[in-house]
Amino acid sequence: MHVPTRSDAEAADRADPLAAFRARFLEDHTAGVDHAIYLDGNSLGRLPVATVERLRHVVVEEWGDDLVGSWERWIDRPQQVGDAIGVDLLGAQPGEVLVCDSTTVNLYKLASAALSARPDRSVIVTADDNFPTDRYVLEGLAAQRDLDVRTLAVDPVEGLDPAELRAAVDRDVALVALSQVAYRSGAVLDATAINGIAHAAGALTLWDHSHAVGAVPLDLTADGTDLAVGCAYKYLHGGPGAPAWLYVRAEHQPRLRQPIWGWFGQADQFAMGDRHDPVAGIGRFATGTPPILALAVVEEGARLVAEAGIDRIRSKAMVLTALAVDLIDAWLTPLDVTLASPRDPAQRGAHVSITHPHAHRVGRALAAEQVVVDVRPPDRLRLGMAPLTTSAVDVWDALDRLRRILQARSYERFSSTPGRIT
Ligand SMILES: *Cc1c(COP(=O)(O)O)cnc(C)c1O
Repeated sequence: MHVPTRSDAEAADRADPLAAFRARFLEDHTAGVDHAIYLDGNSLGRLPVATVERLRHVVVEEWGDDLVGSWERWIDRPQQVGDAIGVDLLGAQPGEVLVCDSTTVNLYKLASAALSARPDRSVIVTADDNFPTDRYVLEGLAAQRDLDVRTLAVDPVEGLDPAELRAAVDRDVALVALSQVAYRSGAVLDATAINGIAHAAGALTLWDHSHAVGAVPLDLTADGTDLAVGCAYKYLHGGPGAPAWLYVRAEHQPRLRQPIWGWFGQADQFAMGDRHDPVAGIGRFATGTPPILALAVVEEGARLVAEAGIDRIRSKAMVLTALAVDLIDAWLTPLDVTLASPRDPAQRGAHVSITHPHAHRVGRALAAEQVVVDVRPPDRLRLGMAPLTTSAVDVWDALDRLRRILQARSYERFSSTPGRIT
């Protein structure tokens, strides 16, 4: 096999139609210091340049000058930003997406609404490679309602096999809750097939697209998804703690009622009526006052992703992750590293995981070499290749530094105790 050289990576960058987008993000330009290679955009996306000015405008002019008068234009922002994300990036219809709360809270709201809509059913199906917060929220709901969670043990590299799911979904199942791109392996699930399996048994589906949105094309209308949630601070560059989005297929909206009966979901909100009466439409999934500053940040990030185009983003992610896999095979496999992501580029999102017996130490040694990755238990290093901000040369250089660290065993100098945040 031809092992990609640094000039191959440079050639890939010259041919990259998204190359110009790197300049649209703030970089660490500290003179004389090798710029850090950031392979963690799947945890926190970089800061778009335009966001800085936008945030200044919202703070100084909209808040500072216009004060409470700005609510006239602020009040519909959650739905407007939701539509922008929904139509451009999710394949949703206008009026099906709302930006609000955190992913965790939105999961709780939608799962609870779905369970209430299937009162004669007693089982939630999920997978053991689903994100922790998803599993905990489902476990909590099951405990509160005396339901069972059927957690499927899935292949940690290839992800859920639809045949396994088919065998586990029967007429007792109210809800199937999964992530389309697995947070550790990056394995991509076939949403159309899985929605079909759930619907054949009369169950609803709830997808967590936190690692998918902005990384892989989604078409929630065509694939039959009932409900979905996702993060805005990863591939959407929406900033730390950004509000998340939720999706509810239009036909389900009238029948679903979420558990937090707040005033922002109330019909004729400012009449301050006695009893809760939810609005028609996606607005009924709102809770309280929206975070206006953070919504502006989400809008800027999502706009940049939409401008780049999800198909071009997907193609670049496949190029970058394929380069990483080739270098892992050639350089790292002899050094105790195992690939922990699918080999087929179509079957993985925009990140690649590897295992190493001393993953924590290796992660620290990489950080000391200006390469930012993250570590996931028990022994995985996650290399995120956010396509708008990562170049092929970044990937080549990062893996070259990793190869040197492993060859010299220089990670042995670093502590094996995990930090507070990994
Ligand atoms: C990052 C992530 C979350 C985070 O949820 P928060 O409520 O924002 O903390 C949830 N689910 C998945 C799949 C994620 O990747």
